Amino acid sequence: MVQAKKALIKKPGKATRKAARAGASAKTYSNYINGEWVASRSGETFENVNPANTREVVGRFPLSTAEDMGAAVAAAQGAAERWRRLPAPRRAELLFRLGEILIRDKDKLSSEMTREMGKVLKETGGDVQEAIDCTYYTAGEGRRLHGYTTPAEMPDKFAMCVRQPVGLCGLITPWNFPMAIPSWKLIPALVCGNTVVIKPAEDTPLSTYNLVRACEEAGIPPGVVNMVTGHGETVGAALTGNPSVRLISFTGSTETGRVIAGACAERNAICSLEMGGKNVIMVMEDADIELAVEGAVWGAFGTSGQRCTASSRIVVHKKVYRKFTERLVEHAETLRVGDGLDPQTDMGPVINADALHKILGYVEVGQKEDGAKLACGGKRLDKGAHADGYFMEPTVFTDVAPGMRIAQEEIFGPVTAVIPTSSLDEAVEIANGVRYGLSAAIYTRDVNRAFHAMNEMYTGIFYVNSSTIGAEVHLPFGGTKGTGNGHREAGTQVLDIFTEWKSVYVDYSGKLQRAQIDEVSFE
Ligand code: NDP
Repeated sequence: MVQAKKALIKKPGKATRKAARAGASAKTYSNYINGEWVASRSGETFENVNPANTREVVGRFPLSTAEDMGAAVAAAQGAAERWRRLPAPRRAELLFRLGEILIRDKDKLSSEMTREMGKVLKETGGDVQEAIDCTYYTAGEGRRLHGYTTPAEMPDKFAMCVRQPVGLCGLITPWNFPMAIPSWKLIPALVCGNTVVIKPAEDTPLSTYNLVRACEEAGIPPGVVNMVTGHGETVGAALTGNPSVRLISFTGSTETGRVIAGACAERNAICSLEMGGKNVIMVMEDADIELAVEGAVWGAFGTSGQRCTASSRIVVHKKVYRKFTERLVEHAETLRVGDGLDPQTDMGPVINADALHKILGYVEVGQKEDGAKLACGGKRLDKGAHADGYFMEPTVFTDVAPGMRIAQEEIFGPVTAVIPTSSLDEAVEIANGVRYGLSAAIYTRDVNRAFHAMNEMYTGIFYVNSSTIGAEVHLPFGGTKGTGNGHREAGTQVLDIFTEWKSVYVDYSGKLQRAQIDEVSFE
C-alpha cells in the first residue's frame, strides 16, 4: 500500500495528498476489467481519505499500472463488435435498469460520496440525481439516435445519413462531480454503441466504482464497461496514448486538458474536453438584490466553490454595490462550515491539502493586490470539529479590479471577487474579459437588458435571475475559449461526441450517374 505518491511521480497524486492517517479496516476495492473485479498487477493500493476527517480512510483502491490499463483496453476492444451489433433499443433497456438501481441506492451513494469528497448531503444527492436524470434521458436515445434523409441531386437516387459508434472510448473524470460527470460520458457512449474504459479521479474513485458496480448489476455485458484507478500521469496517460482508443472524453483542468489534447493529436484520436471556468454574475441596479445575494452565495460557496461553474466573480452596478456587498458578506458569515454528513452544515471542506494550500495562496495574492479588500473569511478553520479536515471560511473580496489575478484565475475554492461597474456594457466587457467561457448570469428586472447580455456574453451557458450553477441534463453543457474545444456534453448534442456520421447514397437508377457532372433537365 502506498501512502505518499510524491515519491512515485513528479506531481503528487491528490488522494494521498489528503494525508491519510488511519483506517486499517477500510475496504480494499478492485479494478473492473472484462467483467471481473481484479487487483492491480502492481499489488499496490492508494488510500481514499475523507476530507472532512482525514483520520478516516474511506477505502483502498488499486494503484494501477500501464499494464492494467492495457488489459482494460483489450477487454473493451474484445467486446466492441458485439456491443455495437446489439440494437440500440436493447442497449437502452440495460441503461434504464441502471437508472432504477441508482434510484434504489441513492441515499447510500450520496453519503458515500460525501465521505469521499466532502460536499453536503443535499449536493451529493443532486450529483446522484444528475446521474439518474442523465441515464433516463440519454437511454431514451436508444429509440431515437436520429439520422436524416435528404433529396439527392440525381433522379432515382436516395440520400441519407446515419450515426455510427466511434468505437472504444476512454473517459477521464475529475473529483468534484464524481458520479454525475462519469455518467454524462458513460451513458451516451454506451447507448451510441461504444465500449469504454473509465479512469476516475484519484480523490473520488468510490463513486465511480459505485456507478460501475451498478452497470454490472444492470446486466451490461463483460468488457463493455471497464474501470482502472490510479495516477493520471500513469494510467490516464496510458489510456490517452493507447492506439486502440479512438476517443478521449476528458473533464478536468485546462492544464491537463492541454496535455491530453496534445497526446490525442499525436495519434489522430478524437478528443472532447470540458475544462476550467471563471464564471460571472452581473448584478444590475434594477435587480432584486436579495435574490441576487442568494444566487451569489449559492454559486460561490456551493460545493465549497469547487464547481467548474462556480460564481467566482460578481460584477455589481455602483448604484447597488454597497447594499449588495453588505448583504453578501452578512450572508457568507452565517454559513455553517463542517462535515457534509451533518444536515446542519451549509458548506463542507475542500478536497485535499494541496487544494487548501492553493486557495489560501490566492487569498494572500488578493490581499496584496492594490485596492482589493478582504471583506470576510480568508482563513483555514482547524480547531475543534474542524481539526481533522480541510475546512476554510467562505471568503469575499470586494473592490476587485477586473485584471487582478483573483478576478482572472480559477481558484476552485470558496472565494469570490466582487467587481464594481458603471453600466451594463462595461459589465459585459468585464464578464467576457477572461480566458474561460463556461457560465454567466445576470440579475435584472429589465427584459431588454437580459436579452442584450445573453446576446453579448461569449459563454456556453447563460442564466437570467439565477446563479451560474444549475445545469439540466437535457440541454447542452460546455464552454467556449479556455473551457472547451467545441464539443457539448448532455442534450442531444452529446451524441455528436460519441457517434460519427455516415452519409449513404443509394442509386436505384441502374445506370452510372455522376454527381456535379451529369446534367439533369426537365425533359
Ligand atoms: P485534473 O485536470 O487535475 O484531473 C482530471 C482528471 O485527469 C483526473 O482523473 C486526473 O487523474 C487525470 N489526469 C491528470 N493528469 C493526467 C494525464 N497526464 N493524462 C491523463 N489523465 C490525467 O482536474 P481536477 O480533478 O482537479 O478537477 C478540477 C478541474 O476540473 C477544474 O479546473 C474544473 O474547472 C474542471 N471541471 C470542469 C468541468 C466542465 O464541465 N467544464 C466540470 C467539472 C470540473 P488524477 O486524479 O490521478 O490526477
